[in-house]
Amino acid sequence: MLPDGVRAASVHVRDGVIARVDAWDAVPPGLVVEDAGERVISPGLVDTHVHVNEPGRTEWEGFWTATRAAAAGGVTTIVDMPLNASPPTTSLRAFEAKTAAAEGQLHVDVALTGGVVPDNAHELRALLEAGCVAFKCFLVDSGVSDFAHVGEAHLARAMPLLAAAGAPLLVHAELGGPIDAALRAQGNLSDAELRRYVHWLEARPREAENEAVDLVVRLARATGARAHVVHLSSADALLALRAARDAGVGVSAETCPHYLTFAAEDVPDGATEYKCAPPIRERHNRERLWQALREGLITQVVTDHSPAPASLKCADSGDFARAWGGIGSLELGLSATWTEARGRGFDLARLSALMSAEPARLVGLDARKGSIAPGRDADLVVWDPDAPRVVEPAALEQRHKLTPYARRTLTGVVHATYVRGRAVYAAGAHPGPPSGRLLRRGKA
Ligand SMILES: [Zn+2]
Repeated sequence: MLPDGVRAASVHVRDGVIARVDAWDAVPPGLVVEDAGERVISPGLVDTHVHVNEPGRTEWEGFWTATRAAAAGGVTTIVDMPLNASPPTTSLRAFEAKTAAAEGQLHVDVALTGGVVPDNAHELRALLEAGCVAFKCFLVDSGVSDFAHVGEAHLARAMPLLAAAGAPLLVHAELGGPIDAALRAQGNLSDAELRRYVHWLEARPREAENEAVDLVVRLARATGARAHVVHLSSADALLALRAARDAGVGVSAETCPHYLTFAAEDVPDGATEYKCAPPIRERHNRERLWQALREGLITQVVTDHSPAPASLKCADSGDFARAWGGIGSLELGLSATWTEARGRGFDLARLSALMSAEPARLVGLDARKGSIAPGRDADLVVWDPDAPRVVEPAALEQRHKLTPYARRTLTGVVHATYVRGRAVYAAGAHPGPPSGRLLRRGKA
């Protein structure tokens, strides 16, 4: 899968870097050759939305399990979110705690984001210099008490600083007002009602996203900062994103495999493995997200990988209100997205742009990551896009196996994953000691 399309080729790697791409039989004698046969070699995926949770909540997910899941899923670079670690990555001291925790545990390359919270404007410069590739904020309660959400006034201070540095701000775009109103309208629900997905859907209305996206566009326009809406679910917000794009405002958006795969109408009662915020919405909404991917309005697909222990997911009671939100799918993102994409006429080139090149570009890693071209790191996934697989939760590498993809048949099987020329996953195993690196902004 080359920048100009799919063709038979040989990829020549020296010292972890792609030296050249040549005809498939242009292989001088004496070289070490790995023959991928009829399989596809795509650029390794760059997943810019992963919750690793280490240090501090390593019992949820950690660097070891998350990066093994990434390797098994063809993901060669992940970007960690700042909020679920303790301490959260909102200061230089916390950044250093995280890099220390990552030491010796990385099976793929990892970059870190810093958090923007109400009281840490004075830390942002140090976080930038330490190597954060992007920043992340919430416009609504994050669910984590030491990662408070920000309002317009905080962002008016932080965004010019990020604009000057050219670092993107990733925004969880939901506003509390419409959510509070929805909860008031809902009143007290019975235990049986709390098990029904429709009540969770009602509790996170589209307006919460739509109004937040309006705010993000307004602030990006005013400050010149590069803003990126994470996990877009409400297709109604596409209108504002289109207008912003047409006006040249620096705003982009991603969506996730679960919003592109599932539909609210199909979620069984009590199936809290489907809970995330914003929620998985209706089938009709899902098709509008696909249309936005088709026209390039949503620029990338990343997983928002965020597993949690079954007890926190309220797997027993099936209470959607109390269950922790988050879906772990780092290992499944490629096949889940491809399964749905190919049926809608997307080709491998488009898939690769959405899952490798565009995410790499967002966080400024595109000089080394996201495409198969001379000078780029030899980050590759060898896979069979026609082979079916049935998802067996027990076989997943992520720490907690609860997943809405359980026993679903997906198309696309990863055979091997290479990071800087070294196999980090092959034939179901993880050969060699962990060889992933921590990537720092400007030094990737
Ligand atoms: Zn997230």
